[in-house]
Amino acid sequence: MDLTKKLEILADAAKYDASCAVVAPARRTDPAEAVGIAQSYGADGKRIALLKILLSNHCVFDCSYCVNRRSSDVPRARFAVPEVVALTLDYHRRGLIDGLFLSSGVFGGADETMEQLVAVVRSLRREHHYFGYIHLKTIPGASAELLDEAGRWADRLSVNVELPRQADLDRLAPEKSLVQIQRSMDAIKGRIDAAAEEQREARVPFAAARYAPAGQTTQMIVGATDATDAHVLTAASSLYAAQGLRRIYYSAFVPIPGAPDGLPAVAPSTVREQRLYQADWLLRFYGFDAEELTTPAEPNLSLALDPKLAWALRNPGRFPVDVNRAPQWELLRVPGIGATGVDRILKARRQRKLALADLKKLRISLRRAEPFIVAADHRPRLLRLGARDVRDRFAPRSRQLELFPGAQTAAGGEL
Ligand code: SF4
Repeated sequence: MDLTKKLEILADAAKYDASCAVVAPARRTDPAEAVGIAQSYGADGKRIALLKILLSNHCVFDCSYCVNRRSSDVPRARFAVPEVVALTLDYHRRGLIDGLFLSSGVFGGADETMEQLVAVVRSLRREHHYFGYIHLKTIPGASAELLDEAGRWADRLSVNVELPRQADLDRLAPEKSLVQIQRSMDAIKGRIDAAAEEQREARVPFAAARYAPAGQTTQMIVGATDATDAHVLTAASSLYAAQGLRRIYYSAFVPIPGAPDGLPAVAPSTVREQRLYQADWLLRFYGFDAEELTTPAEPNLSLALDPKLAWALRNPGRFPVDVNRAPQWELLRVPGIGATGVDRILKARRQRKLALADLKKLRISLRRAEPFIVAADHRPRLLRLGARDVRDRFAPRSRQLELFPGAQTAAGGEL
């Protein structure tokens, strides 16, 4: 099989992995030249173009939700290590990419696959002094030695958790175990922490201590089982706490032709994916706990309202918040005021009492925040009228999110 055909198959097979989300069209290039290029965000939040491919789409596993599963009737291909190295260098030389995202189906065993993945990045770094960004997928169950080496060459490592509960894996990916996945994450975290410690104490030169400096991430598929957003967010919260993940990517299940019974025939709303990204942002940067974002009666996030607004409407007793007196954590919970807005408010109110016009100058979204805040010249009326008025005020515009699936989700945003 020629290289072009392999690239076509293995770039297509990689597009189901959301861990380097496509957030925008590729740079303006001849489409024939741009096969396999995905736009994503680097660890510093900057947009980067990646060659996003699988090393192989042969897989000994049979995860029902995956187009590359053993029983799937799709064309198969496998790159040789030098082919991926040459492709990456060629794309980079032509200015098409900033880096490589490399994953693979599991051919042979976990170590056999991981050894080949590591061989690619080792060759790029050591033999070709490739300095571009590398995100390497790791194979659960691969040996500690291989994980160790993977992190020496790659900027970011990830292990896909795929589904939030073992019961979901038992049903759709019975060869996978959360315990094994977490064991791989533990090993990576251990090495990241050790490298950071060595650097802090300056025991070794920076380059020697380097281990996956852009951290580790994972991906969860949503909508393939009946797991609720509460299940997903609880799992996400534990992973952030236990593994120090840089981030979790949520990928709405994509129905695949010829999939086994028991999988939904339609994809979940892309708004659900967007809401999970927003909720995730609240967990990481706004001090929310997973259990605050849903309720036992409503275990899924609202599709009509963003999770911060939905929480505010469920908790009218927490409002209004006085922008001139409230502590940072309380301001962070106000709809329409993001983390940057909170910093601006805290700084500006040292100089004077803030009125609505001041907040506008600080680029606070008054349309969203006004019903929830007290300012020098303002007390809200809408909350006194009842939460439904506020809901009606926001819901129609929130529904427009449906028109922009995926927009902004991968980088998150101020809520
Ligand atoms: S192990 Fe990965 S590539 Fe293989 S079937 Fe499962 S999800 Fe697909």
